[in-house]
Amino acid sequence: MKDAAPQTVYLADYTPFGYGVEDVHLTVRLDPGKTRVQSRIRFAPNPEAQDRDFFLHGEELTLLWAKIDGAAVTPQLSDQGLRCTVPDGPFIWEAEVEIAPESNTALEGLYMSNGMYCTQCEAEGFRKITFYPDRPDVMAVFTVRIEGPHPVLLSNGNPVDSGEGWAEWHDPWPKPAYLFALVAGDLVNHPDRFTTMSGKEVELNIWVRPGDEGKCAFGMQALKASMRWDEEVYGREYDLDIFNVVAVDDFNMGAMENKGLNIFNSAAVLASPETSTDANFERIEAIIAHEYFHNRTGNRITCRDWFQLCLKEGLTVYRDSEFTSDMRSAPVKRIGDVIDLRARQFPEDQGPLSHPVRPESFQEINNFYTATVYEKGAEVIGMLKRLVGDEVYAKALTLYFDRHDGQACTIEDWLKVFEDVTGRDLTQFKRWYSQSGTPHLQVAERFENGTFTLTFKQRTPPTPGQDEKLPQVLPIAVGLLSPSGDEVVPTTLLEMTEAEQSFDFGGLSERPVASVLRGFSAPVVLERAASRQERLFLLAHDTDPFNRWEANRALAQESLIASITGAEAGPDTAWLSALLEVVKNAAQDPAYRALLLGLPSQSELAQALHQRGVTPDPDSIHAAAEAHRQTRAELWQADLPMLARETEVTAPFRPDAEQAGKRALGSSLLAMQSRLDGGAAAQAQFDGADNMTAQLSALTSLITIGAADSALRAFEKQWRHDRLVMDKWFGVQIAYAPPAMAVEMAGLLTEHPAFDMKNPNRFRAVFGALAGNHAGFHRADGAGYDQLADWLIKLDAKNPQTAARMCSAFQTWRRYDADRQARMRAALTRIADTPGLSRDSTEMVTRMLG
Ligand SMILES: [Zn+2]
Repeated sequence: MKDAAPQTVYLADYTPFGYGVEDVHLTVRLDPGKTRVQSRIRFAPNPEAQDRDFFLHGEELTLLWAKIDGAAVTPQLSDQGLRCTVPDGPFIWEAEVEIAPESNTALEGLYMSNGMYCTQCEAEGFRKITFYPDRPDVMAVFTVRIEGPHPVLLSNGNPVDSGEGWAEWHDPWPKPAYLFALVAGDLVNHPDRFTTMSGKEVELNIWVRPGDEGKCAFGMQALKASMRWDEEVYGREYDLDIFNVVAVDDFNMGAMENKGLNIFNSAAVLASPETSTDANFERIEAIIAHEYFHNRTGNRITCRDWFQLCLKEGLTVYRDSEFTSDMRSAPVKRIGDVIDLRARQFPEDQGPLSHPVRPESFQEINNFYTATVYEKGAEVIGMLKRLVGDEVYAKALTLYFDRHDGQACTIEDWLKVFEDVTGRDLTQFKRWYSQSGTPHLQVAERFENGTFTLTFKQRTPPTPGQDEKLPQVLPIAVGLLSPSGDEVVPTTLLEMTEAEQSFDFGGLSERPVASVLRGFSAPVVLERAASRQERLFLLAHDTDPFNRWEANRALAQESLIASITGAEAGPDTAWLSALLEVVKNAAQDPAYRALLLGLPSQSELAQALHQRGVTPDPDSIHAAAEAHRQTRAELWQADLPMLARETEVTAPFRPDAEQAGKRALGSSLLAMQSRLDGGAAAQAQFDGADNMTAQLSALTSLITIGAADSALRAFEKQWRHDRLVMDKWFGVQIAYAPPAMAVEMAGLLTEHPAFDMKNPNRFRAVFGALAGNHAGFHRADGAGYDQLADWLIKLDAKNPQTAARMCSAFQTWRRYDADRQARMRAALTRIADTPGLSRDSTEMVTRMLG
């Protein structure tokens, strides 16, 4: 760790590197404690750069020797890298360094996981492998020789040659160093082949530890589907002879798109019906697609600097969401994405960590792999596509791929492509990349002489560093329904550009009911004073599946808030009866019906209360949600058995949308049933389950009603050998624990022999679950805050990246009462004052404290 004062990097300070790299040859001699990395790099002055300062990044490296054009040199070393005097023209740089992968617990650079070697170089990990201009705008062709006693030695690109104890790889596509990868270990593969649209044969492999080969088939099928989809929808085909995917147990993120050698957190690729839930299958399919799609949006066209991260991530998240919509149900995918956006991105954008989709400064770029860059970045692409239309979007993308292939680009390059194709000026639209915060959109309506007028007002509350906000371009999809439920105006896209703007719909014989922001056409907080009757009407009649769900969500939120604030004694039973009729409609997709049964999360309710000027009390929120669930179960009691029968799956297990939807609905119904029968049905399902979805949903139902002791023991006995399943076991006991017990449960589980804080999945299973147990984490005595702070301090010393990201559990601290605020502030201050705290966590905590 560096304890020097963290330096802030600014977008405005960008300058190109003084030298281009023509090619890179690396020889890596693997050894747990003394790996040697020899580099041979051909540099030439960059004609586009003024600055001739030859600085190579390098951290935690022991330099053994360095040469320029064969003559020994003695560079000036610092803890950030080295400087050296170099010739005026092209030259060859050679150096050898020593590193210790076995003691690398930060999981950045070259490290070891269960005896295998692997790498993670995005964003700035390559500088922990060798001295190099470790910045994405320096792109080069790599040739890599790996020496080590392992049966499998992999790197990027195509295999060149290999023998006993060595292998050579060559990647013909110029790439930035963050896409470098190396894997070595005792691995087995699940092989397959793919024929591209131009008839090229590609060898595919998923590499895993022996014993996991039975869990690769689904990932492989998802990979082939992704390759085909990118050809059919974007016209892009794969560009190497081989594509390798490797599963690694210790990994900070979900997966990494290294050229031709994707490295995956094993949780994001290994799947089997017995060990994976339907949600796991869907996530794996999406992540495989995401990393594969990066080959074009990220690898072949990369980012000029890390401020442009959303260029590759926003677009690639958008592409993977389109893929999932095509593979599964588009409305269900859209609703899931919006639930996720509101749960993760909205709190970020409305709190102290708020930043633009393209940040303008950072201290540690790893802290900006955020929901804002990824998910809001994808929403911005979706809005752009809505505004220009599908055909123009396709044309613009083709131009983007043609014009910028092999380049490191900016958001300006991206938008210029759309401006060139459409002739439109996108200056105002570009604010989506620079202005932080979530816009609030108010709607008023008027009906006069057959004309219905919608008047919108937008305002974005101030965010850190941005007090004044300008109006955004908002695509607002609207449809109008007649009072009898017919659609009188089909979905129409309104383009709002002013702070206040009205839109007229003429020629109407009676006052319509408006369905506003269909499909959640812009990522805003919609403030609409719709009546309960109008929402019930939309729940019954809206032709837009998103807005039907949204009407129900609003009814749920209003009912819960009325209970929390004491305005109503209990849930809105008239609405629950209306909802039951919708849920009983067997013609509706079960997955969609399962979404209708979901309630706003307790954290979301806290945010909604805060926005209305009410200080949220986590205990009252929890009590209201519990009372609501209990009332609903009792009210629907007579219909539950019939509904449950409808969700039975008799065919062999398939992880597809159809079966998954039935199981999702079945799980919601089982949770209700458990409140009525003391867990009898859940215990029976648990005992007879032949798939993880059924087993885990039964287990969580039992935990929720406090009847899971024997099931938890049985689950542990059955799965103690499987790390990924045990992560679930750790997580659910805390996530579904009664709030008063969550902290004790987390404490107890950290003493379990299988708890390993060095494994990010396990750490997140425990403390992610604690942070997610809203009333448990926000216990009035502050025990949740203290416990999380203690563990984040411990983790920071080993793995700063994961520790820093998990600090965001505190980001909503200003929502709560003075006492809780003081306790959270104290916990944050204690983290901030820890001697030797990483720059990752320092930056996060400092931003939150403000
Ligand atoms: Zn990505």
